[in-house]
Amino acid sequence: GPDVRRFLRKNWLLLATVLSVLLGIGLGLLVRQYGSLSQLDKYYFGFPGEILMRMLKLVILPLIISSMITGVAALDSEVSGRIGLRAIVYYLSTTIIAVILGIVLVMTIKPGVSHGTENIDRTGSTPDVTTVDAMLDLLRNMFPENLVQACFQQFKTKREEIEPSRPAANATVAPPVTAVMTTLVPENVTKDYKVVGLYTDGINVLGIIVFCLVFGLVIGQMGERGRVLVEFFDSLNEATMKIVQIIMCYMPVGILFLIAAKIIEVEDWDIFRKLGLYMVTVLTGLAIHSIVFLPLIYFVLVRKNPFTFILGMAQALLTALMISSSSATLPVTFRCAEENNMIDKRITRFVLPVGATINMDGTALYEAVAAIFIAQLNNYALDVGQIVTISITATAASIGAAGVPNAGMVTMVIVLTAVGLPASDVTLIIAVDWLLDRLRTMVNVLGDAFGAGIVQKLSKKELERMDLTSDVDVVNPF
Ligand code: ASP
Repeated sequence: GPDVRRFLRKNWLLLATVLSVLLGIGLGLLVRQYGSLSQLDKYYFGFPGEILMRMLKLVILPLIISSMITGVAALDSEVSGRIGLRAIVYYLSTTIIAVILGIVLVMTIKPGVSHGTENIDRTGSTPDVTTVDAMLDLLRNMFPENLVQACFQQFKTKREEIEPSRPAANATVAPPVTAVMTTLVPENVTKDYKVVGLYTDGINVLGIIVFCLVFGLVIGQMGERGRVLVEFFDSLNEATMKIVQIIMCYMPVGILFLIAAKIIEVEDWDIFRKLGLYMVTVLTGLAIHSIVFLPLIYFVLVRKNPFTFILGMAQALLTALMISSSSATLPVTFRCAEENNMIDKRITRFVLPVGATINMDGTALYEAVAAIFIAQLNNYALDVGQIVTISITATAASIGAAGVPNAGMVTMVIVLTAVGLPASDVTLIIAVDWLLDRLRTMVNVLGDAFGAGIVQKLSKKELERMDLTSDVDVVNPF
């Protein structure tokens, strides 16, 4: 009847995306079974998916810039300070809950003790990094020295010699070990070199966010004189969201090929057996956090059905699952939060971009589990102090991880070195990261979305007061 038709019309994109995931899995399995693709063929096969990734990444920059600036400019500084504080409290407390949950699970299930992991290959090496360097680098990234460069600072690793007598070989630019982190891990850092810049993947999102925050606050305070800028960024934001809408129409096609290509590409399914219990631990944690803890917090604070809320985010969650990147999912997260869950744009514009960059519950949980798993594999008994260290560094490492694929696995080096575990043991879990990454990214995105819902509820009074008093109406969506 008309009900079904209305449902279809409203949810066609979501349905098409779900369908394309299923088709993609089917196609992938078929090709795997009957096709014999060369390495090059496999590469071509994933091409439509690559295009989708490129399009999503393309809008990150205008989206973050315009939404952050207008989001902050719309609020007077007192209100934005209070909303910002609430967001930070939410980010931190849920991240810590996730870490504790992970620790409890991994200490109970003990996936790394004796059985199940006997044949794990311990070859390969990941370079060591000092925790201090990694932390400094996180701060350094918040203050880009060049705004334009911050938009495409690729694989920049720089070390300066402190003691010139040493051979210069170590001071060269290290290869892009991974292109994925806020904190790039340098090779063989010795005390004789200081790290002066270890950058990230394409965009230094953290630095840009910090700048936009200040910029937005400033033009918001300028009154009449700042208004032209506020309006400029506001209309940039609207234009970007229109482009997002167009990109989303292509999404089912891109996703079909992304997932099919992934299934064709995976070489070692056997590793799943070896690392089975470890994966089960991470999965259980992610499930409990996203189906029990976050919904409970949302329900207690907002008094609305959290599962309806999750359903409203379905398209974003599915996207995160497919592309393993909170940042690249951001455009979809915005749309779902604003259009399905009716969250005020003044909130999403601030809470979502910041959340996608620093609020990663799934990653934090994963880092804690993985670090303790590696300790168990090494028969390394952790004392209470070390477990506390793991919780703190796992939280920091999740904040430091950029919202791009595999970032969490790399920043885990911080956690490992902090408790004296071999950083090179990260290689033990690399083989399954493509799967765990997408699952934790989904939880990261869900955490951001719930955050927006909760902060909106807690800020209701301020928002209503603003509706009454504000004469500048540029950002009020309704
Ligand atoms: N891929 C994750 C994200 O974008 C980060 C991680 O690797 O944990 O949220």
